Amino acid sequence: MVVAAAGVVTLGGAVAAWLKRSRASRPVAPSAQASRTPVAQKPPEAGSTGPGTATVAVDVPEDLDSRFSARRGRLGGALGERLAGFFGRRELGQDAWDELEEALLLADVGAAVTEQIIAEVRARVQGGDESPKEAVRAAILAAIDPDADRSLHVGAPGAGDLAPVLVVGVNGVGKTTTVGKLSRVLVAQGYSVVLGAADTFRAAAADQLETWGAHVGVTTVRSDVEGADPASVAFDATRTAQREGVDVVLIDTAGRLQNKAGLMDQLGKIARVVTKVAPISEALLVLDATTGQNGLAQARVFAEAVPLTGIVLTKMDGTAKGGIVLAVQRVLGVPVKFVGLGEGADDLAPFDAEGFVDGLLGD
Ligand code: GDP
Repeated sequence: MVVAAAGVVTLGGAVAAWLKRSRASRPVAPSAQASRTPVAQKPPEAGSTGPGTATVAVDVPEDLDSRFSARRGRLGGALGERLAGFFGRRELGQDAWDELEEALLLADVGAAVTEQIIAEVRARVQGGDESPKEAVRAAILAAIDPDADRSLHVGAPGAGDLAPVLVVGVNGVGKTTTVGKLSRVLVAQGYSVVLGAADTFRAAAADQLETWGAHVGVTTVRSDVEGADPASVAFDATRTAQREGVDVVLIDTAGRLQNKAGLMDQLGKIARVVTKVAPISEALLVLDATTGQNGLAQARVFAEAVPLTGIVLTKMDGTAKGGIVLAVQRVLGVPVKFVGLGEGADDLAPFDAEGFVDGLLGD
């Protein structure tokens, strides 16, 4: 966790007292069940020091631009290692193409995209002067679609329109962690954020989220009742965010898959109540990259429940199945927007197609 010196900011005593009063007097989500942690909405401006100051420790999240490249090595380069033989070949006979196919399938690229990549590599090595490695790199990049819009559609900071972001996925994939990390991403970009702890089935989830939020000065709306109605918490969080003029409300949801109909009902209800307050800006599916092709079956269920706008692939650090990025984009028709590259607070990075291919190939 980064607690830079500049991150320990101080508020003038009078300002701190005013903030406390003004927050206390705001009309906040009058729900029988929901409560919220009253923490500062935005990290206060640095430099507002003065005599008689109160200290508020707020993390300064790591800048986004360098996050992916700084962690690219964590992708492991397994595909590149498997393809070392292929890259070194002078003649590309059938055994070479089989080798390429096997390596792509083992990386969980999926059958359809593997076929597409092989066809592209064949065309490139036959038609030009590209080496097998250059051809593979270009073919994978083309299959990833480097021009896809991977931005998070949440408007501009301070623009005045609330952007609700639903985060869905199976338990254990890293959903709550991702919501926490995303709050840091948004805070780093100057957005004000409220968190909604609508995973009410797992007692620790709300506490976990609250801790993430507190580190970057973000409010968490939660229920004190275990098993409370997730839609009610989602609604309260969205309404609170709107009343407070916040830019983004990030809503963590429960992801039990035992009963598909129940899950779909619940997510559908959450989406409906949130939409009553503001149209949903993003519905992000969190998938665990280590589950490979199995994750795709889950993905389909969630895609039926809510119209997805993007994918977050977690646990990409140390998996040899990074090719799942290509497969899941193909299956769902929506782009991977972020990847989880570790358990650290800032180990969530915007997806960078070129950097990703370099990481897969170990370059
Ligand atoms: P949820 O049940 O889907 O909300 O899952 P959690 O957010 O509680 O995360 C489950 C576990 O996955 C935790 O131990 C996280 O630290 C871990 N995790 C989440 N994202 C990543 C990642 O990108 N890399 C690694 N290595 N671990 C992760």
